[in-house]
Amino acid sequence: MKSHTRVAVIGGGVIGCSVLYHLTKLGWTDIMLIERSELTSGSTWHAAGGFHTLNADTNMAALQGYTIQLYRELEELSGQSCGLHHVGGITLAGTPDRMDFLKAERAKHRYMGLETEIVGPDEIRKLSPITNTDGVLGGLYDPLDGHLDPSGTTQAYARAARMAGAEIVLRNPVHETNPLADGTWQVVTENGTIIAEHVVNAAGLWAREVGALAGVYLPLHPMEHQYLVTEDTPEVYENDRELPHVMDPEGESYLRQEGRGLVIGFYEQACEHWAVDGTPADFGHELLTDKLDRIGDALQFAFRRYPVLERAGIKTIVNGPFTFATDGNPLVGPVPGLRNYWSACAVMAGFSQGGGVGLTLAEWMVEGEPSRDVFAMDVARFGDWITPGYTREKVRENYQRRFSVSYPNEELPAARPFQTTPAYGLWQARRAPATARRPGSSETAAPPAVPRWDRTPKIAADSFRGPFRGCSRA
Ligand SMILES: Cc1cc2nc3c(=O)[nH]c(=O)nc-3n(C[C@H](O)[C@H](O)[C@H](O)COP(=O)(O)OP(=O)(O)OC[C@H]3O[C@@H](n4cnc5c(N)ncnc54)[C@H](O)[C@@H]3O)c2cc1C
Repeated sequence: MKSHTRVAVIGGGVIGCSVLYHLTKLGWTDIMLIERSELTSGSTWHAAGGFHTLNADTNMAALQGYTIQLYRELEELSGQSCGLHHVGGITLAGTPDRMDFLKAERAKHRYMGLETEIVGPDEIRKLSPITNTDGVLGGLYDPLDGHLDPSGTTQAYARAARMAGAEIVLRNPVHETNPLADGTWQVVTENGTIIAEHVVNAAGLWAREVGALAGVYLPLHPMEHQYLVTEDTPEVYENDRELPHVMDPEGESYLRQEGRGLVIGFYEQACEHWAVDGTPADFGHELLTDKLDRIGDALQFAFRRYPVLERAGIKTIVNGPFTFATDGNPLVGPVPGLRNYWSACAVMAGFSQGGGVGLTLAEWMVEGEPSRDVFAMDVARFGDWITPGYTREKVRENYQRRFSVSYPNEELPAARPFQTTPAYGLWQARRAPATARRPGSSETAAPPAVPRWDRTPKIAADSFRGPFRGCSRA
């Protein structure tokens, strides 16, 4: 292992490997990735491997389009298969609001150059004969949607980066990251110390802990997530072509073909935070205990939407954790208050967004700024008021709203009031509503406020020096 490097990327999941590859693509080759265990040892190996372009934020949708279109190039360059299945995907609409939302997405896609189209129930049945379209008004079809092999894809990024000169060091946990007076970093690892001109935190499930090594709090939290894999099912394997993905927002589920069976995953309302007190250092190669009772209602809905599921036996249940930021978008860019310290964390859809995140960060580091508007994922988009208690409430809300219709400039209710304007007391005295109202609905929901006692950071207390130290870039 070398003792000096231009960049030390911490973490060998799909995101760290994508950052490494994109840095080489932009001409930085004296760089290294340091991985605690083997590549893919965090969330990456659990992933269902689905990818899609749909995202309420236009710039995020464009980066997702970039990621998906990159895979063929990556396969050719690295000689490593990503196990691509471009089977297409349909997002169903069961309400007029959702139909309007999908039409608005389609309009956005048109100017982004993405070839999505609105389809009716007959067409949906033709594309996916196992889908019961009762109550479905239509859907958005995206021919680019599909799935891949998470491990093969991570290895493809890694191999392409290695071929360009990057070094990858495995089985070598990073224990310390210490800033030096000249702006470089001392990276203390199990097997020696490296001086790095730049550090990238791509530690995924452990991004909080790795951030704390540098004294920063990154507002992300892991959530448990479950999907089921069925036994071989004749209605699936007797079909003359692979079935497309179906996202059913009303049922909080996504479904795709896996070999001769199906995979169905859920973003259920009764979701659970994972590892509130920090991700265990020795976690990584095991699954969490499955909790089918949590997805009981969503499963019942899925049986009606896909009657074939009732006859298909369950082969495997996967319950694994992955991280979200408070608004569901990644935390990317230079971390405020630290020199030459970069974040590539909280990527909740690594196979839809990983390429775009890697490209954005590499442009920022090599060229001084990214080539497109990245406000939606800029790590500096939060203030220094953010705390783990706030993060948990917002992350739960975000997980529950994974399939909700989103509206422009929407204010969401969880964890409010937390940060108020100076006029807040005046408004309250004049009885302005303290509850949030969803657009188009008369229903008001009392927001779950973050209790006062929960406003202190809990992660890695010894090395933790609080939330972002100021919001200006160093
Ligand atoms: C059940 C499940 C299903 C999913 N399905 C999908 C899907 O269909 N599509 C999709 O796009 N995404 C899916 N995801 C999410 C996807 O897995 C994540 O977006 C992605 O894996 C995040 O990758 P990462 O590289 O950021 O983090 P991780 O995969 O967590 O990688 C972080 C790496 O950093 C290393 N590391 C940590 N600390 C240190 C240290 N101190 N020193 C050195 N190395 C360190 C770890 O060992 C690990 O290898 C799913 C996740 C789960 C759990």
